[in-house]
Amino acid sequence: MTPSPWTADLDAQLTRRWSDADRPSCAQIGRDLGLTKNQIIGRAHRIGLPKRESPVHTARRKRPLRFCHDGHLGNRVGPITDCKFIAGDPHGAAARGENPFCGEPSLPGSCYCADHHAVCYTRAAEFAA
Ligand SMILES: [Zn+2]
Repeated sequence: MTPSPWTADLDAQLTRRWSDADRPSCAQIGRDLGLTKNQIIGRAHRIGLPKRESPVHTARRKRPLRFCHDGHLGNRVGPITDCKFIAGDPHGAAARGENPFCGEPSLPGSCYCADHHAVCYTRAAEFAA
């Protein structure tokens, strides 16, 4: 069996790098300490270092909300000029050959006009009230 490479000094270095402000990846910490990414992850777990958020998830959360999640149209990015709020019965409108969407000019960065944006988006504080 291979002896563990971990010394008190390495543990201290790992702990320091783990919570570094520049958020090095596990692979990066491994390169710095001469170990593998898996050794870093395993050791961090063993000595009880706090879980780290994936940098991918962090980046995703910080991105401004610009998607239209209306299901039928799929995700759309970028300027959308007509309100995509479906008013009334979409199947009936389609059967009659009508456009089921509201069609008013949408707010910048929203799929909806001002009225329908207010209907579709609420803030957490409003729920608490
Ligand atoms: Zn609308």
